[in-house]
Amino acid sequence: MTLTKPIVLVDIDRPLAMWEEGLVKRTRLEYPEIFTGDAGTRHDWDLTLGLDANQKDAVLTVMQLEGFYLDLEPVAGAREALYEMLEEDIEVFLCSTPSLNNPTCASDKLAWVDAHYGREITQRTILTQDKTLVYGQALVDDKPVLKGVMIPSWTQVIFDSAYNQHVAGHRLIDWADWRDAILPVLHLDRIAA
Ligand SMILES: [Mg+2]
Repeated sequence: MTLTKPIVLVDIDRPLAMWEEGLVKRTRLEYPEIFTGDAGTRHDWDLTLGLDANQKDAVLTVMQLEGFYLDLEPVAGAREALYEMLEEDIEVFLCSTPSLNNPTCASDKLAWVDAHYGREITQRTILTQDKTLVYGQALVDDKPVLKGVMIPSWTQVIFDSAYNQHVAGHRLIDWADWRDAILPVLHLDRIAA
């Protein structure tokens, strides 16, 4: 395989979309009588951990609402970073796993990317249930453990979150610093190739 340009894959929920903030806001709106903790305060990937039955039911219901994914706010600096990568000859593709429990998640994600990141990025959006099947040198993703049927071609650049602090390796905290976090991964891969 001839590698012409480095490929950077970017997850949507959390690196590009303020998913947890949207979830908290909507849950408080729909269920004002139920206590919902602030975004950024959970320390486990499983967001239902420690919730009582009512809290769990509320949050899972909101996650399945039609249009939920359309209302998310974009992450500051992310759009600029994606277009800077493209300008610097990096092949950027979004790589996201749509919820199968939300009937409009997949189509809402594409419409949302189109609205907030532009058609050029929408054309580069891959929706998959298994990110290990997608080829690339780097994957920017907040999920602590990514499993699939393949040994991934990419190296994960963990997108900093309270629930992934235990993960070692490359880490992106702010999109303004994408070069420091991502370029070393691409250079290492080029040397290895
Ligand atoms: Mg994510």
